[in-house]
Amino acid sequence: MSSTSVLSPTDFSARLERYLYERSEEWRAVRVGEKEVSEQAEIVKRYADLFGRDQLDALREAEDAAAGDEHELLYRLRKTCESGIAAAQLAEREDELENRFLAERVTFKGEEMPLRNAQAKLAVLPEYADREELGRIQAEASARFNPDRIELMRLSEELAADLSGIEDAIERNEEEKGISLRELSDALRRASVDSTQSYEGLRGQWFAKLLGDRREDVPSSYHTAWMRRLSPLEATYTKDKATETCLRTLEALGFDLPSQPNIKLDLDDRPQKSPRACVIASDPPKVVHLITRAQGGLHDYQAFLHEAGHALHYGGCDPQLPYVFRRISRDHALTEIYSYIVEAITREPEWHELYFGLSPEQARENAEATTFLEALLYRRYEAKLRYELDFWSRFMRDGGDADVYERLLTEATGIRYRRDNYVSDMDEGFYSADYLRAWIRSAQLRDHLVREVGEDWWRNRKTGELLAELFREGTKPSSEEIARRLGFDPLDCKPLLHEIGA
Ligand SMILES: [Zn+2]
Repeated sequence: MSSTSVLSPTDFSARLERYLYERSEEWRAVRVGEKEVSEQAEIVKRYADLFGRDQLDALREAEDAAAGDEHELLYRLRKTCESGIAAAQLAEREDELENRFLAERVTFKGEEMPLRNAQAKLAVLPEYADREELGRIQAEASARFNPDRIELMRLSEELAADLSGIEDAIERNEEEKGISLRELSDALRRASVDSTQSYEGLRGQWFAKLLGDRREDVPSSYHTAWMRRLSPLEATYTKDKATETCLRTLEALGFDLPSQPNIKLDLDDRPQKSPRACVIASDPPKVVHLITRAQGGLHDYQAFLHEAGHALHYGGCDPQLPYVFRRISRDHALTEIYSYIVEAITREPEWHELYFGLSPEQARENAEATTFLEALLYRRYEAKLRYELDFWSRFMRDGGDADVYERLLTEATGIRYRRDNYVSDMDEGFYSADYLRAWIRSAQLRDHLVREVGEDWWRNRKTGELLAELFREGTKPSSEEIARRLGFDPLDCKPLLHEIGA
């Protein structure tokens, strides 16, 4: 590409806005089942002028000359340009692998089904033995894609090292997130150790209630989705009450979602719609999609409230902010604070009492189940981060060690994880660390809200006012800046220990 086609940072940002809008809308249409073929590659091609080495160099030059907010803004534009260059080079191979995965079929009890459906079905199969069988079938089918996954990871890693000029994967991610991943991991590890005793108590009790008498001492991870729905309590947490209950929960905080036209709710049930809830912030704060598909069980309520936290954050940002600070962040650690804090309402015993007509004892017991699930997920992610640090410190040398995956995750949770799941159970760019930072921070925020608003923070409009102020800042602050504003050390895990029942 000739240097004449290089855009100024302002023009680059304006064109990027249109590019990201089109990609978001395309992704949404496929995800909700309005379109059956994804045409992302076509969009990438049309905006190829955004993603050249000359453009990257120009952005870096401008960044080096800037200071303060302007420097941060240009840094984020440069990193977006980097990932766009990588995406353009890998998009076709990624699409090819994705399409082969989507086309894969497995047979369970004489019924042939897409591999993806098999994964979804695991959450709703009531028989323990059936989940064991289907879990094994789908895990084996998924593991057959490992060589392709590893090959793509290697290509992507080489590109990222080249484009950023930072060879080491861990160092590169630390630079982008602005934190030390190892210090974070150490602090989280201590919290995990400190919560072991209480976790073991909760685990014994809830494994029995959720998995029954025929379970193994260390059950396999095939049962996790079943447990997350609190399936045996399904009669209380019905599918048809989910939306109304969640909207009323938000209303109590002062958020009237249906009257916010910029937050577009898609709650319909369509056969091709992905069951995973999500938010797509196509053009915040003007266009933000909140998408859910209820399946029945408590998880519907938690997923809706979690995504509502994201939607209110993006939909509530100040429209006067530059585009970058409304849409682009260094990582996901900030927005996950807001999804976590709204979801945390489901761990309040009185919420179960108020919306489901349960007795105080029953409400307390059900809320305890949500604490158990929270502790389980926290421990899984803490172990995952340790595993990922091991993996990325050796990946280019020996491809990583699947045994480390199995050992660390199984030890931490008391659930058996298959070693051959070691590459599919990993999100790009240490997303696990972003979730874990949000775990620490949302617990700090809850602690702050209890002090500022009171024990009824989860149904008090003052909470909504405090959150709305944070939402106005868009994607600009880091998670660690929020900690300091709340008066906490970023690695202070004491409030988190309280959240997970320790
Ligand atoms: Zn989220």
